[in-house]
Amino acid sequence: MTGNEALDMFCYQCSQTARGTGCTLKGVCGKTPTVHRLQDNLLFAIKGIAAYMHMAREMGVSDDEVDAFMTKAYYATLTNVNFDAASFVALAEEAGMMNVRTMRLLKDTHVKNFGQPEPTPVPTGTRKGPGILVTGHNLRAMHELLKQTEGTGVNVYTHSEMLPAHGYPELKRYDHLAGNIGKAWFDQRQTFSDFTGPILVTTNCIVPPGDAYKDRVYVMDPVNVEDGKRVENYDFSEMIKHAQELPELPEAEGKVTLTTGFSAPVILSLAPRIRELVETGRIRHFFLVGGCDSPFMTGKYFREFVQKLPEDTVVLTLACGKYRINDLDLGDIEGIPRVIDLGQCNDAIDAIDVAVALAEMFGVGVNDLPLTLVVSWMEQKAAAILWSLLALGVKGIYLGPVAPAWVNDDILGVMVDRYDIRLVGDVEEDIRVMLGDVTAEEPGNEVMGSSGA
Ligand code: SF4
Ligand code: SF4
Repeated sequence: MTGNEALDMFCYQCSQTARGTGCTLKGVCGKTPTVHRLQDNLLFAIKGIAAYMHMAREMGVSDDEVDAFMTKAYYATLTNVNFDAASFVALAEEAGMMNVRTMRLLKDTHVKNFGQPEPTPVPTGTRKGPGILVTGHNLRAMHELLKQTEGTGVNVYTHSEMLPAHGYPELKRYDHLAGNIGKAWFDQRQTFSDFTGPILVTTNCIVPPGDAYKDRVYVMDPVNVEDGKRVENYDFSEMIKHAQELPELPEAEGKVTLTTGFSAPVILSLAPRIRELVETGRIRHFFLVGGCDSPFMTGKYFREFVQKLPEDTVVLTLACGKYRINDLDLGDIEGIPRVIDLGQCNDAIDAIDVAVALAEMFGVGVNDLPLTLVVSWMEQKAAAILWSLLALGVKGIYLGPVAPAWVNDDILGVMVDRYDIRLVGDVEEDIRVMLGDVTAEEPGNEVMGSSGA
């Protein structure tokens, strides 16, 4: 039913492994496929936390409690330690809460160092002159690069995950932070081929560089590719010199102007207005549509979904998935924009803060708000965020574009029964269910795993 039946499990981490190649039906040690898959689930969430915590450490902060949890959780997946499926679900929830803690640590240090993000228009063209394109999440790298390029004539552009940089006062004050180029991470081959200057990749995602631009790719910190030029100790002098030697970028107007920088405090400053618009029926429903993006056609669901929403709805968005929709001009509802970009995936903490604050304002639980989460996932940071939402008690999340491959029918049962997770299906039917125009039990509106997606 989930399409995951081909291989029950695969583990080759100890010498007992079946046939010396891998346990695929059941562990020789006694580990069941479900426990093995839940161990993988935990490891994926830990990888996500590790990415955010590493970014926090680059900013000079850390958290002993999260570090201790990571050690405990890794240890739980070692051979002959834990054979209890329920405890791995509990550990996944604990990982979710540790990820909340980590995202907050990271956000707080970003705000402390670069100021509270504020709504900022972002051009998408290029200015005549040399330029450097920066992708990834490392705002410290962006800050250092802006300082080191100041007065050199080299403009700095953001790509993909770096778009939120434009909203931070301490970064946007640099006039040569010139705009945003390209869309989500998987457009790199085309966007980086077209961009004539050096490209700095600060964190994931990187796609193995194509011949057209691989000599212009600079990597740093955890990122590496074969023969990649490395930036060490935030010294960008070689890359800046390279930018001055390469062909200039043309003066070219972008097709759209994006807006980013809607932090939780910005939205909550509008809370009384939002309350009035909701209570008078002018805002009917909020959606959080965001998360990852991937090159698969299934991702088109999210753009179509937003395009088909009624005009009395507001969409909060964040992370790479926003590039499916952030060029749409959906207008506003009496001053409240209908598409609100909260930032990158690590800024999911702002979405959580907004939801909790709105629930408090309306005197209801988060699950009773007129709010539906429609979330796309691709890599393991998204697994950490999903468990954060589940650990916080958020129910009825729509997940797409595909079910996680490590989910078997046992795990699926828990995801549906305990968390009411649903898999995205048909756009129009999903919208009708979310808005309460039809119930999920009616044909066409399936819980996770039963839609065949
Ligand atoms: S830990 Fe268990 S499942 Fe994994 S290889 Fe060893 S015996 Fe097989
Ligand atoms: S976790 Fe998702 S949203 Fe975050 S960088 Fe990776 S692909 Fe983008």
